[in-house]
Amino acid sequence: MDPYQTERERMVEYQIASKGVQDEKVLAAMRVIPRHCFVPEDARPYAYADSPVRIGKGQTISQPYIVALMTELLGVQPEHRVLDVGTGSGYQAAILGELAAEVHSIERHPELAESARGVLEELGYDNIEVHVGDGTEGYAPAAPYDRIIVAAAAPSVPQALLDQLVDGGRLVIPVGPRFSQRLEVWERKGEQFKQSSNIPVVFVPLIGKQGWEG
Ligand code: SAH
Repeated sequence: MDPYQTERERMVEYQIASKGVQDEKVLAAMRVIPRHCFVPEDARPYAYADSPVRIGKGQTISQPYIVALMTELLGVQPEHRVLDVGTGSGYQAAILGELAAEVHSIERHPELAESARGVLEELGYDNIEVHVGDGTEGYAPAAPYDRIIVAAAAPSVPQALLDQLVDGGRLVIPVGPRFSQRLEVWERKGEQFKQSSNIPVVFVPLIGKQGWEG
């Protein structure tokens, strides 16, 4: 048995379900995905803690509750094609891999992308592709997407991401100044875009052409 199974169950019960995330599919995915495989060796004891964890290159894997909340807001269906901006460790991509038909994940640091790709391959995900590039411009070769999720904060919502949504598609992204943002949910209806949700969050910056300067 996986020695981390109990920690994972506790993480889902005490950090996520008890704080209001109800989507059973999201909870089930977080009960099975070995989060410890996505953090550096020396951070494994903290893999299931109620906090972000450092993954190198000044980046973090988001707190489990935030990952759960964002994934619930995203509302992924089994037939969906999803774009994940800011691969980081690959943990969010794995969750999407459990819920969606096809996942494209894009990361600006080649080393992080490489390591995430390795972990995802080892765990057997064959519906996730990791790309290196500037995700503020989305990932055009596989667009459009039913869902887009961004794990880094933008000063304003990048137009390219809205443009790469299907009609009826949805984008979840933290937006706002450098050290305090709001989680925004955008929905596309034809050429109209409607924004809802206003949850305060803090994310690392989204750096790129339609984000912050690096
Ligand atoms: N989803 C990740 C969280 C990583 S933190 C996980 O589950 O571990 C956010 C990531 O976004 C960092 O790895 C950072 O390098 C990346 N990032 C920042 N700006 C980016 C951009 N323009 N394009 C792609 N990735 C970006």
